[in-house]
Amino acid sequence: MELRRLEQAAREAQDKAYAPYSGYQVGAALETDDGRVFQGCNVENSSFSVTCCAERVALFAAVTEGARAFKRLVVSANGRTPYPCGACRQALSEFAPGLPITVVNDDGEKHEFTLGGLLPHPFLFGGESA
Ligand code: ZN
Repeated sequence: MELRRLEQAAREAQDKAYAPYSGYQVGAALETDDGRVFQGCNVENSSFSVTCCAERVALFAAVTEGARAFKRLVVSANGRTPYPCGACRQALSEFAPGLPITVVNDDGEKHEFTLGGLLPHPFLFGGESA
């Protein structure tokens, strides 16, 4: 799928974010290897630690629908550039350690990298990461 369409899907999700505390709305669009796209938005909570990021919302929605292999992730936000947090990097690495990721901020400024570049040594249960 074209990057532009994935960015649109991320922006759509971003508009649905529930972010009454920070005002920082984030959207994610995760493309599967078979071309499906799963969206996620951040969902905040008055008990802050319960908040879930857009990236994990998209990932968990995808896994719930049986997806296990991913092609690309696009993350957008209404403010500063939305680099995935450490928890999301770890969660995504379970399924796609080399996942290409594009982040785009409100000014349309884009950065592209791979998950392996962001998290070179993810935690692996019972073993060392490659
Ligand atoms: Zn996160």
